[in-house]
Amino acid sequence: ERMVSSEAQWEDSQVEQSLRPSNLAQYIGQEKTKENLKVFIEAAKMREEPLDHVLLYGPPGLGKTTLASIIAEEMGVQFRTTSGPAIERAGDLAAILSSLEAGDVLFIDEIHRLPRSVEEILYPAMEDYVLDIVIGQGDAARSVRLDLPPFTLVGATTRAGLLSAPLRDRFGVLSRLEFYNEIDLCSIIHRTANVFDYEIEQEAATEIASRSRGTPRIANRLLKRVRDLSQVNREITITFNSAQKALSMLQVDASGLDHIDHKYLLSIIDQFKGGPVGLDTLSATIGEESQTIEDVYEPFLLQQGYVQRTPRGRVATHKAYEHFEREVHET
Ligand code: ADP
Repeated sequence: ERMVSSEAQWEDSQVEQSLRPSNLAQYIGQEKTKENLKVFIEAAKMREEPLDHVLLYGPPGLGKTTLASIIAEEMGVQFRTTSGPAIERAGDLAAILSSLEAGDVLFIDEIHRLPRSVEEILYPAMEDYVLDIVIGQGDAARSVRLDLPPFTLVGATTRAGLLSAPLRDRFGVLSRLEFYNEIDLCSIIHRTANVFDYEIEQEAATEIASRSRGTPRIANRLLKRVRDLSQVNREITITFNSAQKALSMLQVDASGLDHIDHKYLLSIIDQFKGGPVGLDTLSATIGEESQTIEDVYEPFLLQQGYVQRTPRGRVATHKAYEHFEREVHET
C-alpha cells in the first residue's frame, strides 16, 4: 500500500481513534474554521438549539472526521457516524434519522456518494426535521410525515463541487480544510509521540513533517514507522538519526513524493512534453482512476506548485522539472 496515501488504511484505523483530539483547543491548525465554529457552537448553546448543519470539505486525512466528533463533544451530544456508500436505500437513512436523540450530531462521510433517492429524504429532514415516507405501492401509495428530533448533520466530502446544489444549499456552515504547514504538523507529531509515550527531537519531528504532504494522517503514519525503529534500537527519545533512517526505507522522497507522484509527473513531462494533457488521457496512461487522481494525488501536487490545471489540461511546472533535474521542454 502507498505509504503517503492520504486515504485511511486498515492499519490507521487501529490507532486513529486514540489519536483524535477531543476538543477544539487540542485540534491543531485550521484557525479560521476553528474560530468560526467556536462562535457558532457557543451561540447555538446559548439559544439551546442544535448547531446548524455543517459541511466540511477538503482532501482526505486533514481532520474532517476528527472535527465532526469534536463538534459533538463541544455541543455535549452524541456522535453518530455513517457514510454515503454505506447507505443504499432510503429506508436505511430513515432508520438512522428516526433513532437520533435531540441535538445529536449525525456525521455522513463521503456524503457526495449518497444515492439520489436517499439524498431526497435528507432535504426535509435537514430543513424541517421531518421524515416523508411513502407507504404502500401504486394507487394505494400515500405519503406519511413523521417528526424528527432536531439534529445537526455534519457532512464530509473531498470536494464540495461533487455535491448536488440542493444538498449543498441546505448546509448553514461550509468549511474548507486546508493542508497543514510544517509548524502545525510538528505540533501534531509531538502530540502523537506523547500519546505513544515517546519524546521526539525537534529535528526528527521536522523531518517527518516535511514528508507528510501537509496531512496529519500521513504524519502520524510516518511517525509510527519511525517509532518502530526507535523501539528496536531501545531509544526513549526518537532521534533525528532514526527518523532519517526509517524514512529513507519508506521510499518517500524529501518533498513527500512517492513513486505514484513520480509516475504522474514524469508521464506529463516525458510522454506529453510537459502538457497540457487531459485528465482522462493521463489516467489511461498511468493506470489510475481519474477520480482518484483528482481527489487524492493532485490536490497536494497542485498546492505545492508541481502541476497546474489549465482549460486544456494538466501542465508540469518548472518546479516539477527541477525536482527531476530535467531540462524544460521548449514550447
Ligand atoms: P479525514 O476525516 O479528513 O479523512 P481524520 O479526521 O480521520 O481525517 O484525521 C486523520 C487523523 O489525523 C486522525 O487520527 C487525527 O488523529 C489526526 N488529525 C487530523 N487533524 C488533526 C488536528 N488538527 N490535530 C491533531 N490531529 C489531527
